[in-house]
Amino acid sequence: MAKNNKVAIYPGSFDPLTNGHLDIINRAASIFEELIIAVAVNGEKETLLTKDERLEIIIKATSGIGNIKVEFFNGLLVDYASRNDVFTIVRGLRTLSDFEYEFRMAIMNRNLDNSIETIFLMTDEKYGHISSSFVKEIYNLDGDVSSFIPDAVLSYLNKIKNEKNNK
Ligand code: ADP
Repeated sequence: MAKNNKVAIYPGSFDPLTNGHLDIINRAASIFEELIIAVAVNGEKETLLTKDERLEIIIKATSGIGNIKVEFFNGLLVDYASRNDVFTIVRGLRTLSDFEYEFRMAIMNRNLDNSIETIFLMTDEKYGHISSSFVKEIYNLDGDVSSFIPDAVLSYLNKIKNEKNNK
């Protein structure tokens, strides 16, 4: 079967989506005909947002980009990729520590399925310091996260915080 090189998968936890993620999404969507944003559903990982919230946020924040599909994925990424006939995985790189982790994961995935290639987009310097984990920490301490996340994410986070406070 011919490889479909026109579609790529951008997998992640996106807990929550940040401006750094959105930049990678915009850039990958301009390279590939279609980009599948695959939201990891991992039963063991504790997340700030539920899988449905993470998916809904991404759909809202990317509504202006045409060639995008947002889906959940569960289990092994290489299995999800081959089920979708997609052979290219996109990941973002910020720091040396990202490199180390991403390097090991890409090699591991290639060992599991050598038809799948991982490509990396270097962060834009504006977003190199932004991570979901810092956003979560600052948000949980009532700090201002507005410069790190898209407006659609901020209004969603504020909405769920108000709902929790009113309970
Ligand atoms: P995961 O739990 O799979 O690492 P994340 O949602 O944290 O998922 O990140 C998904 C991908 O996006 C990873 O490749 C990560 O390195 C990349 N990424 C995260 N933040 C940024 C950023 N600010 N700039 C560029 N890439 C980023």
